[in-house]
Amino acid sequence: MNNCIFCKIAAKEVPCHMIYEDEEVIAFLDINPVNFGHTLIIPKKHFANIFETPDDLVCKCFLKAKELAPKIIKAVRADYCHINVAGQDVAHFHVHIIPRHNNDGLSNWPTKKTNNKELNKIKEDILKEIN
Ligand code: AMP
Ligand code: ZN
Repeated sequence: MNNCIFCKIAAKEVPCHMIYEDEEVIAFLDINPVNFGHTLIIPKKHFANIFETPDDLVCKCFLKAKELAPKIIKAVRADYCHINVAGQDVAHFHVHIIPRHNNDGLSNWPTKKTNNKELNKIKEDILKEIN
């Protein structure tokens, strides 16, 4: 993909703060970290999102996140981390490792009030799509 910033990072056309690389994936520090140690893991090949990425590469990115996260937590003295896919900004599949500190002042996700009736309806709607 010509204009993809993460393809350029993978091709070493744009610099990054790399912490891991092999033939298929690369991990580097997020340039706008939520907390220090915020890391992104990407396949070197361009896939726009998780749905377009081959299963073996999705697995590889998450397994690499599982391997790297405890080391990052230790390095930045975090208490725990999020491992997630956001995909709001860059359309090249990537997994975030976001170190968290118990008192880092970041709020948790906002929640909605709901009830059994509503949850049952949503469950039924999803089950219709699955089955
Ligand atoms: P999202 O697509 O919502 O997962 O967000 C993309 C993430 O990529 C954001 O956290 C950005 O700070 C990060 N990002 C964008 N450009 C760069 C870059 N050149 N180097 C490192 N991280 C980047
Ligand atoms: Zn790309």
